[in-house]
Amino acid sequence: MGIISCASASACWRGLDYYKRKKIKNIEKINNNEYTSIVSGNENYHIYLNLEHPRRSTCTCPLANGKRIICKHIVATYFSVVPNSAKDFEEEQEKLQQEYEEYEQRQYKKAINYLHKMSKKELIDELTYVFDYAPEWVYTDFVRRNNIGD
Ligand SMILES: [Zn+2]
Repeated sequence: MGIISCASASACWRGLDYYKRKKIKNIEKINNNEYTSIVSGNENYHIYLNLEHPRRSTCTCPLANGKRIICKHIVATYFSVVPNSAKDFEEEQEKLQQEYEEYEQRQYKKAINYLHKMSKKELIDELTYVFDYAPEWVYTDFVRRNNIGD
């Protein structure tokens, strides 16, 4: 498991932002797998990054201190020391987003095709279900658009 897969989505995006704004200072290489750095903000946080064992990475910020949490400072340090990691992360996220949108489009088309195959009674049952369980505006909008109100 890499740093990114151990970190929350929020830590990844905020870490990327820190990396782009060059918030990571004093990077020191201990060996190929271990690095230390300092992130300067209101306070200086001290980061220890372990690429081989991500959960052993530490940061002195309130969120991660004493816990096995991969915070944005650790992620930002990771992006700073591993070449192309930030670019790879962004490309991977874009790819996932595109795959998700394509999946959504396919599902929507399937749903519309299914509607065309339903009988009038099935459609009425389905729409009644939607009125009962969808947010209130779906029903009120239906009434308004079809001039069913008093
Ligand atoms: Zn931190």
